[in-house]
Amino acid sequence: AIYFVDGQFTEKENLKISVEDRGYYFGDGVYEVIKVYEGELFTAEEHLNRLVESAMKIKLTIPFTQQQLFGIAKKLVQDNQIGTGHVYMQVTRGVAPRIHQFPDPTVAPVVIAYAVNNPRPEKAIGNGVPVKSVADVRWLRCDIKSLNLLGNVLAKQEAFEAGCTEAVLHRDGVVTEGSSSNLFGVKDGKVYTHPANNLILNGITRQVVLKLCREQGIQVEETPFTLDEAFAMDEFFLTSTTSEITPITSIDGRPIGTGKPGAFTVDLQKAFATQFPAFVPG
Ligand code: PLP
Repeated sequence: AIYFVDGQFTEKENLKISVEDRGYYFGDGVYEVIKVYEGELFTAEEHLNRLVESAMKIKLTIPFTQQQLFGIAKKLVQDNQIGTGHVYMQVTRGVAPRIHQFPDPTVAPVVIAYAVNNPRPEKAIGNGVPVKSVADVRWLRCDIKSLNLLGNVLAKQEAFEAGCTEAVLHRDGVVTEGSSSNLFGVKDGKVYTHPANNLILNGITRQVVLKLCREQGIQVEETPFTLDEAFAMDEFFLTSTTSEITPITSIDGRPIGTGKPGAFTVDLQKAFATQFPAFVPG
């Protein structure tokens, strides 16, 4: 596989990453995952905008323009012959001896990127998944797509150990988001999701879903709701770049609605599929 590291395209085997990279020591960096459908990048501009915003929020300047980053992503997709998969990009604050404060400004950020084939998780998308509620003990800047994912990792692991696919994170009973996804409830034809503030990552898929709902005249409430309210939703689903729109069939073993993917969610999935770059109207 061809990787992009330090301004160059290199075979994975030839890569050299320093043990003193601040990403390694501190998780001091930001990242993005961009979906590829049949060789075409999906919502790349939105992802690259968010990468630059995340970097700005941690006072990190990416040494490439968005246009250059787009070119890197495209070349990785082409050179690695990616059909359906994703591009991963991350930027760290560079290589320096381990002290917490920022290194000298002459230290260059380290940008790495790669592309992999990864089929759509059709089974989960079709059948839905069980989820588990987990206390959201993360920091108060979840709007930053930071490499520091310990809170997310521990929540996902807790869900997996309970036989669930994702964690429903909540702060004192208020649902925020999944460990690597955004969460939506549907009640009486209205769509509910947590507002895009410091407590969640404003998912690109989330934004596409909200746009699709509004275009179809569906009422959307970007307002916090509780775990108890989540149990009582007619339908519940999660969104992310790789999971797309995945129905949630139960929370903590309690079925949501009929316990099967709901009609509203299935309709939304169909609308979402029309957005894919390779979509051909039938
Ligand atoms: N929330 C968190 C914590 C995430 O890590 C992710 C992405 O994986 C999302 C939400 C969904 O964001 P996106 O739709 O941009 O992939």
